[in-house]
Amino acid sequence: MTMQQAKICKGCWQQLRVPIPLRGVLSAPFRLVGIRPSRMNPNTCTVCELMFTTVMRARKVTLDATVLFADLRGYTSLSQSLAPDALSALLDTFYDECASAIWEYDGLLNKTIGDAVMAIFNFPIRQDDHAAAAVRAARAIQARCHAKRDDLARAYGFAPDTFGVGVGISSGELSFGEFGRSHRDLTAIGTVVNTASRAQSAAEAGQILVTPTVYERARSELAGSQPREYRLKGFDDAIELYAA
Ligand SMILES: [Zn+2]
Repeated sequence: MTMQQAKICKGCWQQLRVPIPLRGVLSAPFRLVGIRPSRMNPNTCTVCELMFTTVMRARKVTLDATVLFADLRGYTSLSQSLAPDALSALLDTFYDECASAIWEYDGLLNKTIGDAVMAIFNFPIRQDDHAAAAVRAARAIQARCHAKRDDLARAYGFAPDTFGVGVGISSGELSFGEFGRSHRDLTAIGTVVNTASRAQSAAEAGQILVTPTVYERARSELAGSQPREYRLKGFDDAIELYAA
């Protein structure tokens, strides 16, 4: 990954004014006691990650945040025509580019679900403009994946336009909780999460769709965008979304 990585933990510095070295010689004593860059956001540390886990285990925790879903389009049809190693190279590229874009804008890569990723903005790194940060991250995801597309298509012999990413973003109050049987299923739930997921499934390859709340909160990023009604399979009511 080519992104600039923080030298000290952004979460600890922002919330506690404690400089925790993440990289270089100064980080060695911290690593000895188990403090190292978090796998969910390498610009934060394992202490922040623990905080995240603790907050989520507390069950009834709510937080104002922005949720982003990005999904690799064409994956199902590509999975029928590509060799397993080509397919995993494709997925790795997708995950890496999503992660870099999300971390560049201080988001948390919460989980990967099949051929989709889910990110949260405003935790543990607080951002007043978390909706705008998510929109910028979404654009970075599209740009990064588009930049890799032709090389991947050439290397693995598929039509470039079968590879694309759809992104959906929603913003508002979330609940954190522990779901499923394993502790790995700690995640955010609620209408905001479901709506982000729905927006993502309405997005075409190369498209970013956001909810009215995201539009209101990130107006400067979305000047001139008009709402459109989307009807999705499995839902009775239409959903109003803006293209970003
Ligand atoms: Zn930290």
